[in-house]
Amino acid sequence: MNRLRFLLTVVVLFLLACCGLFAQTGEPVTVLRAAHLLDVEHGTLITPGEVLVRGKRIAEAGTKVSRPAGAAVIDLGAATLMPGLIDAHVHLFLHPGAEDLQTVVEAVPERTIVATIAARQDLMAGFTAERDMGTEGAGSADTAVRNAIDAGLIPGPRLRISGNAVDILGGHEDAIHFNPAAHVPSNATYANTVDELVAVIRQQLKEGADFIKIYETGPDRLANGAFSTPYQYTRAQLEAAVAEAARVGARVAVHATGEPGTLFAAQAGVASVDHADQLSAETMKLMRERQIYAVPTFAISEYFAEHAESAAQGERRREMLAYHAAEFRRQLAAGVPMAVGSDVGPFPHGTQAREYELMVQYGMPAAEVLRAGLINGARLLGWGDSIGQIKAGFLADVIAVEGNPLEDISALKRVSFVMKDGVVHRK
Ligand SMILES: [Zn+2]
Repeated sequence: MNRLRFLLTVVVLFLLACCGLFAQTGEPVTVLRAAHLLDVEHGTLITPGEVLVRGKRIAEAGTKVSRPAGAAVIDLGAATLMPGLIDAHVHLFLHPGAEDLQTVVEAVPERTIVATIAARQDLMAGFTAERDMGTEGAGSADTAVRNAIDAGLIPGPRLRISGNAVDILGGHEDAIHFNPAAHVPSNATYANTVDELVAVIRQQLKEGADFIKIYETGPDRLANGAFSTPYQYTRAQLEAAVAEAARVGARVAVHATGEPGTLFAAQAGVASVDHADQLSAETMKLMRERQIYAVPTFAISEYFAEHAESAAQGERRREMLAYHAAEFRRQLAAGVPMAVGSDVGPFPHGTQAREYELMVQYGMPAAEVLRAGLINGARLLGWGDSIGQIKAGFLADVIAVEGNPLEDISALKRVSFVMKDGVVHRK
């Protein structure tokens, strides 16, 4: 008996020793090497580029990094190393073809499975962090997707999620063109008063939301060059929503396209104004002063213009896009801080690097678009001190692209390597 106890003790001690050894040496060490490395902050290329990754973090970055014994070296040849891409406006729960009817036709479990595929497509396209702006009728199912990614069960970007977006009765996301007797559900959660806003926000945070998405305007109209859109919540209502979210450290983002809704949102202190087709001088000044990001989402507008149901509808959508592009230039001139969000979902997941291209095409220099996407994007997602740049201490979200994105932003569409949290997902 004593002999057995002794043997057991020896075995246990041996196992403990092994575990200790593993903890010391088990952290994988990788050296990434390529022709160039993008310095997003300064808008320059470093040649050549090397990154030393220890576990899930960047240990060193520059033209030459140390090579610890046993480090794996991944040589990416002529490519450019850069931080993983960030998309500040996605819908993992939407896919092309059935946007508004998904709530009616598809069950939430089915939509959740499709969302996990979308997450993988986005990651493989180089998007290592995303802000999901609403499940559009799938409730808090995004909590399961985010948690599964975080637990390493499925591949996908690190996510900030909002659950179901919030909207008024008969508002922009409500199902208003159906037979009322058919009880077609809204794509968002109703809140009509301050009390209802507070209750809905508490429920959504309880179910796992990281932030709150509110529809503040819509539907939009452009007639004879004049843009108009009704607001949905007053300034006081939005202030109450922002205060309730802030009580537990969360923030509010709004879908807001024009005045006075965008002004109410800026006055209330939201984190971002998404779409931002038209902003008054007063709104632009407030957004600059309070560092509230505009997220233009041109890619979805382009896609809808190209996939219209009629020539006339296509023409109207192209006019709206041209109007927004002109307003975007005014916003840049007024110093409105930008983040990059594509509104992917209604158009195919994994193709949203197009948003970076369009912002360059509409007048923002590539280096500034990259800063907006990666540095502002990281801040907007609440990860400003851990992603969006390649520097020591940051999480190892690193991709490689073919070409120089400072000279040709379309390089972001040619992703040849994806690492997230120090794990290689594409090579
Ligand atoms: Zn959206």
